[in-house]
Amino acid sequence: MKADYQIAVLPGDGIGVDVTAEAVKVLKALAGDFRLDFAEYECGAECYRRRGTDLPDETLTACRDADAVLLGAMGHPDIRKPDGTELVPQVVLREVFDLYAGVRPCRLYAGVKSPLANLQPGDIDLVILREQSEGLFASRQGGILLGDQVAADTLVMTRRGIERICRYAFGLAGRRRRPDRAARVTCVDKANIFKSFAFFRKVFDEVGRDFPEIQQDRTYIDAQALFLVQRPQRFDVLVTENMFGDILSDLAAGLIGGMGMAPSGDIGDRHGVFQPAHGTAPDIAGQGIANPIAAILSAGMMLDWLGQRHQNPALARAGEMVERAVALVLKEGKYLPRDQGGNATTADVGNAVRNALDGK
Ligand code: ATP
Repeated sequence: MKADYQIAVLPGDGIGVDVTAEAVKVLKALAGDFRLDFAEYECGAECYRRRGTDLPDETLTACRDADAVLLGAMGHPDIRKPDGTELVPQVVLREVFDLYAGVRPCRLYAGVKSPLANLQPGDIDLVILREQSEGLFASRQGGILLGDQVAADTLVMTRRGIERICRYAFGLAGRRRRPDRAARVTCVDKANIFKSFAFFRKVFDEVGRDFPEIQQDRTYIDAQALFLVQRPQRFDVLVTENMFGDILSDLAAGLIGGMGMAPSGDIGDRHGVFQPAHGTAPDIAGQGIANPIAAILSAGMMLDWLGQRHQNPALARAGEMVERAVALVLKEGKYLPRDQGGNATTADVGNAVRNALDGK
């Protein structure tokens, strides 16, 4: 019997709209022992301009009821709230649904140039796991500004928050285990200076005792930035605080061809939101030239997550098919998007991935 899964689609703003259309196109072409039903909802900066809200109630309810959420990108530099801040409904979704694990895989595919010399395809194959419910972002609504003279934001770490992200990291490393490399989790912190990060490392070590089969490392964030550039081959899963993960994942994306190549999943115990790591890129929006690969790979992650969650191997296999199709298109090099040095439009790339799904 075919199982049905409801997917809430939130294209959002700018190139979010362009790349989401391609991700949905690829998903619709997949056949298997499952059926995906798609429904699109409004959300983002344009929605705020039209309706006075960037996350309407019906969108939030649909996300809550859906089996998974596929998101494009949100925000526009010229559309802001009265206090001057940008609209970030994707961050609100993280908070509302407690999406504590920011999963950002970075893989260097054949056919994609890394700014690092002498790397082979596959040399970079790591995941930045960003704790997403606390850390420095806990201050997002709560920083203080005193008399236009002093400003402060507070970094928050809780045992529960650290434990669950570290447990997630070891689980992920166990699942990712690749035949040619040992599973490894690297704790990235600043334990030499801050009490909060020393606590993060302590709890990491405690959780790690339950996973003796997985190699365990600890590095400081500054050194880690260096190591990612010098020897990215060494890393598998890197687990870190919210702000560090935010920065490190953009650095890692830069090593594998840029933001157009970097997928992500915001995952909690009950909900998952999947989106490219890039923003709305207003400079190229609506021109049909954005790279949809990050969005398509995010859709593949969604299938994998749904497969695990519902113990449906057909979904996990479909997730692998998406990744294989992307790898094939990039390797062939006939339909490369502009940011990878080609001339293919956003739709050309989406069509090429769809056509490569059967592995021809
Ligand atoms: P945010 O603050 O939401 O992350 P941003 O404008 O700072 O947004 P992005 O929108 O992620 O950053 O991207 C920065 C630049 O990278 C864009 O202006 C665009 O030129 C390029 N870029 C990002 N994503 C893509 C993509 N999918 N395809 C091609 N170029 C991209």
